[in-house]
Amino acid sequence: MSIKNLKKLVEINSHSFNPKGLKACATFLMSLFDPLGAKKTQKKGVIFYEMRKKAPIQIVLGGHYDTVHAETSSFQKLKARGSEKIIGPGAADMKGGLLVLLEALKKFEASPFKDQIGWRLYLNPDEEIGSPNSGSLIQAFCKGALAAFIFEPALSDGSLVSSRKGSMNILIRSIGKSAHAGRDLEHGKNALAPLAHLIKAIDGTKGLNIAAMNGGSSFNTVPDEGILKLNYRSDHAKDFNAFEKRLKSLVKKYGLQMEIVSERPPKPFDKKTKKLFKALRYPVKLKASGGVTDGNLIAALGIPTIDTLGVIGGKLHTDEEYFEKASFKDRSELFYQFLIRLAKKEVTLC
Ligand SMILES: [Zn+2]
Repeated sequence: MSIKNLKKLVEINSHSFNPKGLKACATFLMSLFDPLGAKKTQKKGVIFYEMRKKAPIQIVLGGHYDTVHAETSSFQKLKARGSEKIIGPGAADMKGGLLVLLEALKKFEASPFKDQIGWRLYLNPDEEIGSPNSGSLIQAFCKGALAAFIFEPALSDGSLVSSRKGSMNILIRSIGKSAHAGRDLEHGKNALAPLAHLIKAIDGTKGLNIAAMNGGSSFNTVPDEGILKLNYRSDHAKDFNAFEKRLKSLVKKYGLQMEIVSERPPKPFDKKTKKLFKALRYPVKLKASGGVTDGNLIAALGIPTIDTLGVIGGKLHTDEEYFEKASFKDRSELFYQFLIRLAKKEVTLC
């Protein structure tokens, strides 16, 4: 395992809104994954690899190479923290995981059992903002696969995530008319007041985060625009339909505009997924999570998906993001062993 490659990968800033950095990161990743010999295509910044499309067992592998860490942040380097931990922006989430996967594939491709498994691999650049461009491409790419394995970080105690809530990001826009608050108040139309009415109506909804509100400028100006950001999460698909319907009617009532920016369906711990975890045979616990990943999109196709096969990490999305150094090698070995068992038909996926 090469910490040197990880250092190089982490220190290329690939914030979701840094196109130059994302491109550089993609180029470096391709220099690492190309030698596996799979067929490569690229679309909208997503890198796709396909290996042995006619093999009897077809699986999907994947991960994202964008991070939440801005180019302007002071957190840009990979560093040791004590003897057991390594910190770095995106080191756990999920550049470390991408290299865990690379190493397992390298070993598997050198094994005599490789012909049994065909794998498809995607690497996407916009997961941290809800995969707006890559989501549908990834879904199309996964069709027909028996199972999917994604290398997001495992939880800090080593557990894998069993089920995930779904998540919906919604933008509400209010348009008013500005006016001088002293001279012309009655000629203005306040853009913030309708948002306040909406907030009052929806506050307390289970699973709803009233995430951000912007608008207005000086004390003596009637605000002409207001923006409200909402995030809604639930375990059940039907809750999303009900919430969306309710929100739409309130938006109409208060004369607002609404846009669903991104949506990921819930990822249930269903029969197929339980079977997949059993086949995986990792000696770890399973836990439910409220966070979402591309695994939600793939599971929605009915493909059982496990999405925390990367390094063991914590404090994600902060300047203290770290992973357990030993897990870099351990998790790679575990996945390699699983691929071998699968190829030898010691375990089945369905
Ligand atoms: Zn991630």
